[in-house]
Amino acid sequence: MTSIGNSDARVRIGLEIHCQLTALRSKLFCTCPADYRGKEPNTNVCPVCLGMPGTLPLLNRRAIEYAMMLALVLNCKIPSRITFYRKNYFYPDLPKNFQITQYNAYEQASVGVDGVVELDDLDGSSKTIRIRRLQLEEDPGRLAYDGSIDRSNYALVDYNRAGVALVEIVSEPDFNAPNEVRLFLNRLASILEHLGICNPALEGAVRCDANVSIGEQARVEIKNINSFKDVERAVTFEITRQRSLAARGIEIRGETRHWDDARRITVQARAKEEEEDYRYFPEPDIPSIVISSKDVEAIKASMPELPHARVERFVNVYSLSRDTAKILVGEKHLADLFEASIKYYDNARSVANWIVTDLKGYLERYDDGGGDGSSSSSNSVILAKVTPKHIAELAMLVDSGKINRATARQILQRVIATGMLPSAIVQSINVDMLSNKDELASIVDKVIEEERKAFMDALSNEKALNYLLGKVMRYSNGRADPKLVLSMLKERVIGTSKTGQ
Ligand SMILES: [Zn+2]
Repeated sequence: MTSIGNSDARVRIGLEIHCQLTALRSKLFCTCPADYRGKEPNTNVCPVCLGMPGTLPLLNRRAIEYAMMLALVLNCKIPSRITFYRKNYFYPDLPKNFQITQYNAYEQASVGVDGVVELDDLDGSSKTIRIRRLQLEEDPGRLAYDGSIDRSNYALVDYNRAGVALVEIVSEPDFNAPNEVRLFLNRLASILEHLGICNPALEGAVRCDANVSIGEQARVEIKNINSFKDVERAVTFEITRQRSLAARGIEIRGETRHWDDARRITVQARAKEEEEDYRYFPEPDIPSIVISSKDVEAIKASMPELPHARVERFVNVYSLSRDTAKILVGEKHLADLFEASIKYYDNARSVANWIVTDLKGYLERYDDGGGDGSSSSSNSVILAKVTPKHIAELAMLVDSGKINRATARQILQRVIATGMLPSAIVQSINVDMLSNKDELASIVDKVIEEERKAFMDALSNEKALNYLLGKVMRYSNGRADPKLVLSMLKERVIGTSKTGQ
């Protein structure tokens, strides 16, 4: 493969990503807890984040450190002076009537600028995405709609979130296909988790806006994409919409659209007028921060192991294939589970294989693709029940030939339901692999009789045997030893060819 997916140079996609620094204990400019979720409305507030007259913001220095870490991982340059600006606008969720941010349209005062991320998919092709800037800013509050009031005329406002620290990452429009966007966001999620600065599985912790244009047509912005998973969907929809308009000779208007995650479409929000004038000016209550090269070195030295280094370690120390290592590290909890499991069973390749194919497969099937971000939380519920010891035992039972993989997958379901150890489950339900030729013969005969056509096909094409094998596995409730069944089926085929039936 020479490019990643259906890359089309005429399609240009840029991203604006907001990540809450969930690892911080307090908000960006006051001591209110950063963890605002699940609280009574307007209880997680103080005079500073409510913008009361006479209050002063006090910068959370750790937020700068975290943002600098991320900027360095995204290969950004760190300016020698970091400055905050006031972005002035009125909206009910913004109690101060201005937001403290870094972008000011004239100067680059952000935590990081001019970064690059190399995307390489599992086939080894690659692509460079440029990062325009990375900045710190405060989150506004939220409007809430209560069922008891008329939504068209009233809204309630909750300031619990107001002032929480966000990192905004702005990319250049370098993506040419939706799956490149997905690869980038997966990479970013893994980086955030490994740095330990943001938990992307938390509701609303990562939000994304995307801009999409095709050829010389106007640029359309999509707002409100509330999970990384939905970004690929929203962008795919938007490209299809713009192409079908263009095919009918209709001009694309520059506009802002909202992503409706229930209907999985973008809907028009407003036509794009002039760039709004936010009357930016330097925040007078927060002095600029001077960053020395020593500061940058100290941040670099404090960083934990990053995904790239972890993949290399998995390849070199545990002899995993690069693809397997990438899949594990792509989701930090899987990589952590792998490292904990091999303490109980030191066949690293076998354990890794089990996690990457069977466990991950199970999690993906469990995930109904609802797209609201809840799948990752339901996955974390499942993962909380599967301990390293469970994984180690399952891999060991399969390797020893005591059970086959299909049975092991069934046992995994029981592990999740009961928390029992796999060895105990094997004993309790007698699921030892069916590897008695006489017992299997009756099932094999029955399947050949029922599937005469598939069997005759198998005389000329061995691939047809897989279908028959699948049916034998079903009839044996997954207990049959697949290798043995396959050899038995081959024997019958050869026998039939010889007798010329
Ligand atoms: Zn506060």
